[in-house]
Amino acid sequence: MPTLKERLEGALLGLLIGDALGVPYEFNQPNVLPPLSDLEFIPPKGFHRSHEGVLPGTWSDDGAQALVLLASLLDCQKMDLNDFAKGLVDWYETGYMAVDGKVFDVGIQTASAIRKLIRGVKPEKAATDDEQSNGNGSLMRVLPLALWHKGSDSDLVNDAHKQSLVTHAHIRSQVCCALYSLWARRIIEGALQAWEEATTTLRQIYGIDSPETCEMDYYIRPDKVAEGQGSGYVVDCLGSARMVMSAGSYEAVVKAAVALGRDTDTTACVAGGIAGLRDGIGGIPERWLKNLRGKEIYEPELKKLIAWRTSK
Ligand SMILES: [Mg+2]
Repeated sequence: MPTLKERLEGALLGLLIGDALGVPYEFNQPNVLPPLSDLEFIPPKGFHRSHEGVLPGTWSDDGAQALVLLASLLDCQKMDLNDFAKGLVDWYETGYMAVDGKVFDVGIQTASAIRKLIRGVKPEKAATDDEQSNGNGSLMRVLPLALWHKGSDSDLVNDAHKQSLVTHAHIRSQVCCALYSLWARRIIEGALQAWEEATTTLRQIYGIDSPETCEMDYYIRPDKVAEGQGSGYVVDCLGSARMVMSAGSYEAVVKAAVALGRDTDTTACVAGGIAGLRDGIGGIPERWLKNLRGKEIYEPELKKLIAWRTSK
C-alpha cells in the first residue's frame, strides 16, 4: 500500500500528467486516434496534434486551475472563494500556474465567469446555473481540495460545492465535485469499495429526498455500471473516469481515458488524479515524470501539501 506521501505525490502528478498526455489528442473522435501503445506526450508521426505549438509534457487549463486551487487552500488554510477567484483571474490574465505563463484551452463557462469576476461581479454570482451549463470545468480542478482537506466529510462536501460555484453553479456540477472529492478521500483512507462508500456517505449528508440526492439518483446514477464517452459534460466525465479506472495500472487508466477521444485532457486528468492516488507516485511511469514540464511550479506546492497533511 502506498504511504500518504506517495498517494499525495501520485495524485497531483497523476492529474498533471493525465492532462498533459491528453492535450495533443483533444477534440478528436476515438476512431482517428493512434493505438494505445502510441499514446505518448509526443504523438506518432503523421498524427496531426491539437494545440500546435504547445511543447510535449505541458499541462493545460485543468492542471493550472488545480494548482491555483491548491495554492489558495495552502495560503488561506480554508476554501476562500474570493482568494480562489482572484487566482483564477490571475491565471486567465497573466498565466499564473500555467507552464511558461501561457494560457490555452479555456472552457466557455469558465471564461464567461472569469470575465464577470474581472468586471467586479462577486464569486458567488459569477457563474450561470442553468442546466446546459454543466461542463466538466469545476470537476477537473477539484482534486487538490480532497488532498488538502482535514475536516469532516460534510465540510469537504460543502467546500467542494463552493469550489464549483465560482464557475459552475448548477447543482449537478456541485454534486459531481462533492462525489469525486469523497471518492478521493475514501481512496486515501484505503477503502476497498471507495466509490460505493462515497456514494453512501453523500446520500447520508444530503438526506433522502433532498434536491442533491435526487440530482444524484436521476442524473449521475452512481449505482449503475460506470460508463462514459469522454465528453465535456460533467456527468459523462465523471462516469468516464470511473469506467477507465478498471483498465489496470496508472498508465493503462490514462491511456484508456485518452482513447475515449473528445475531451481527452480533462478525462485523463480526472481519471489520472484518482489512479495516481490509488497507486502512489511509484505507479507512474518514470518517462512521464521526467518529461512533465513545470516542475518549478508544482514542486513547491506539493512540498507544502505533504508537510501540511503529514503534520498533526
Ligand atoms: Mg484542458
